[in-house]
Amino acid sequence: MLITHLPDVRWLCGFTGSNAAVVLPVRSRLRPVLVTDGRYTTQAKAETAGVKVVIAPKPAAVAACEWIADAGLKRCGFDEGNTTVAALKEMQAALPAKLRRNMFQPVGPLVSTLRWVKDQDEIAKMRAAAALGCRLFDDIFEHILPGAAEAEVALALEYKARLAGATEMSFPSIVASGPRSALPHGRASAARLPRRGFVTLDFGVVLNGYCSDMTRTVHLGKPTGEEQRVYEAVLEAQEAGVAAVRAGVTGGEVDEAARSVLRRAKLDKWFTHSTGHGVGLEIHEGPRLAAKQTQRLEAGMVVTIEPGVYLPGKFGVRIEDMVLVKEKGAEILTPSTKAWIEL
Ligand code: ZN
Ligand code: ZN
Repeated sequence: MLITHLPDVRWLCGFTGSNAAVVLPVRSRLRPVLVTDGRYTTQAKAETAGVKVVIAPKPAAVAACEWIADAGLKRCGFDEGNTTVAALKEMQAALPAKLRRNMFQPVGPLVSTLRWVKDQDEIAKMRAAAALGCRLFDDIFEHILPGAAEAEVALALEYKARLAGATEMSFPSIVASGPRSALPHGRASAARLPRRGFVTLDFGVVLNGYCSDMTRTVHLGKPTGEEQRVYEAVLEAQEAGVAAVRAGVTGGEVDEAARSVLRRAKLDKWFTHSTGHGVGLEIHEGPRLAAKQTQRLEAGMVVTIEPGVYLPGKFGVRIEDMVLVKEKGAEILTPSTKAWIEL
């Protein structure tokens, strides 16, 4: 197997550099190989154990293919879901002509699916990332003021995150206020927070390589009856989704648990995305929690539960937790309050 997707490389051997490939020889006495370049000689040796480090001054996938040919290997699996057409051409061009036709066999995303179930060390890191996200949320209210720009709220959040040890945010923070809260992915903009209306905050930190992800929607000023009714329905749907999580249920069943609450409230038409996704070294991993998904959850997976309702031009509400799948239920890793918050 040739592994070139960087989160997979990191998960397999611990290496965090930006130019890397791993060769896993199967049925062979050869040791696994990590290929990188001279910028990372010291780092590669410090971060890894059990792999042979090969340094070459070129793209790691190309150097790995040369190593594969030199080692006398004839067939090599690769993850076609994470390999561009251009990268495959470069990999083939790195081989002697006679090996090009039959060397590479697409074998699917073997490593990323292994990553779906976290071990104890990973769970501890995800707990820490999620807990930092909660501390940031609990500490952000003084910045949520009418007239403040969404970008200022995001900046305050991100500044506190970096001070607390986060290396970066999991994704560009979403701070969507007033009518913009109806945009499911409304990145923090120059728009000013209104005197009255919802503010949706969806953000995450990267801590020790692992991502957190959470959403809370708060309200500035007095709400309308409709705003309260929608919030209550989304909260009920979110809690129903969390309650449905345990080892053995399918992604589709969890999605339906949340979606059916919104259907009863006649709001499902405005729930325009899936209920959740796996999270780990990457912000969006499998499994997907969406309609008709037959993938079964397993203990040790970490997934989000994040239903939302978006009324175009009016307002939107989303509530999202990260949960750890257990044999008999779910453990919420982001326990910040989901009760109505009025500022
Ligand atoms: Zn999110
Ligand atoms: Zn999410």
